[in-house]
Amino acid sequence: MEFIYLLSKGVNFEFMPALNLSKKTIRLTYDNIEKYVKPKKVGNFALGTLKDSKFVPKYVGRSDKDLQLCLKKYIGLQYTYFKFKYAGSPIKAFIRECSNYHNFQRQLDNDKHPEKPERVDADCPYGCNSQ
Ligand SMILES: [Zn+2]
Repeated sequence: MEFIYLLSKGVNFEFMPALNLSKKTIRLTYDNIEKYVKPKKVGNFALGTLKDSKFVPKYVGRSDKDLQLCLKKYIGLQYTYFKFKYAGSPIKAFIRECSNYHNFQRQLDNDKHPEKPERVDADCPYGCNSQ
């Protein structure tokens, strides 16, 4: 019965990808960014909203130089919550960004494919030929 109930709620069992970011969902404010995100770190983020207490990704991105500074640019827009995760290098951040972008593309505001890092020869690992 529960299965039928979920179907009636529009839950799609075929497409439930995981966002490759930390579990923590944080309200997007200047103070929270300073509190949770260290300066001058490479990393990924997603911006979104909460629906039924669940994070709904609406925009994914990365910073190759300073994730904390990058996130501050999005304060005051339509996004109220964020998630993030540090990355070991810009190329790793790029690959994770591609994963998040392709998994959630249908619901994201991103209008173009992630760009590869400067001076790095990298292709999207998902074979989309966007780069
Ligand atoms: Zn791609």
